[in-house]
Amino acid sequence: MESVYGLIGFPVGHSLSPLMHNDAFARLGIPARYHLFSVKREQVGEAIAGVRALGIAGVNVTIPHKMAVIPFLDDIDDHARRIGAVNTIVNENGRLVGYNTDGPGYVRALEEEMEVALDGKRILLIGAGGGARGIYFSLLSTAAERIDIANRTIEKAEQLVRSGEGEGRSAFFSLAEAERRVAEYDIMINTTSVGMHPKEDEQPLSLEGLRPGTIVSDIIYNPLETKWLKEAKARGARVQNGVGMLVYQGALAFEKWTGQWPDVKRMKQLVTAQLRR
Ligand code: NAP
Repeated sequence: MESVYGLIGFPVGHSLSPLMHNDAFARLGIPARYHLFSVKREQVGEAIAGVRALGIAGVNVTIPHKMAVIPFLDDIDDHARRIGAVNTIVNENGRLVGYNTDGPGYVRALEEEMEVALDGKRILLIGAGGGARGIYFSLLSTAAERIDIANRTIEKAEQLVRSGEGEGRSAFFSLAEAERRVAEYDIMINTTSVGMHPKEDEQPLSLEGLRPGTIVSDIIYNPLETKWLKEAKARGARVQNGVGMLVYQGALAFEKWTGQWPDVKRMKQLVTAQLRR
């Protein structure tokens, strides 16, 4: 019998996940299908009960339900518990277990796509929202020397540093302060929505003073190359867009569900081609 997987969120119509997962199932000969489930806020509990009752093998969870699903699960892993958000649920013989592959997916994409070891690196994270949180906690578990956070609302950067217990390795400051410190970093990561379609003309941070060779990474994937990445490239940086994070969080979820590692290169090609259309 074909196994059922899917995505729970609202809205979900724009999702690229069915494209990645259904292709990977087909190529690996796994009899399974990934569907989109549009779930309203007040029906999250019923949706999770449905996963259990119908024997759905696994789901991804996206905005705005990543926190709301937690009380309905049987267990969540340590990383998901620390960040307080779940993006992947695995149905382990009727027990629903929550994980979060967003941050680990980002870090793996960074290491593999940019061919960089994070040991001893000085990293600046721009933004302190949902995307930043998973990435920050995952970066804390690497051997990076510094993981500083700059955010428009500085209190949120402070909260993030304190909740991650990163005080020894992390400072928090304003965007203006971060602009003065650009030359201090080996890796700079934009996790804000600044530069995302349709406001493609905006940039999260001026890059004046950027050292050539710095890695500049943006988790935005629409557009594929933000104005910020274009400027970074022109200043001699090595750049990475948000497709890697999207694909690797999906690949890590796929691995949890099936025990198999999908062809991430192919996933990236499919997603990129779709985004270009
Ligand atoms: P979020 O929780 O709403 O956080 C938004 C962040 O952007 C906050 O730090 C916010 O600062 C900052 N921000 C928003 N408008 C700003 C402005 N005009 N000037 C300066 N800062 C501004 O959003 P999120 O879920 O983290 O998503 C952020 C971006 O990441 C989106 O573009 C999303 O598409 C992308 N994303 C990509 C992936 C992927 O797989 N590649 C995964 C997740 C998210 P304040 O705290 O001051 O409001």
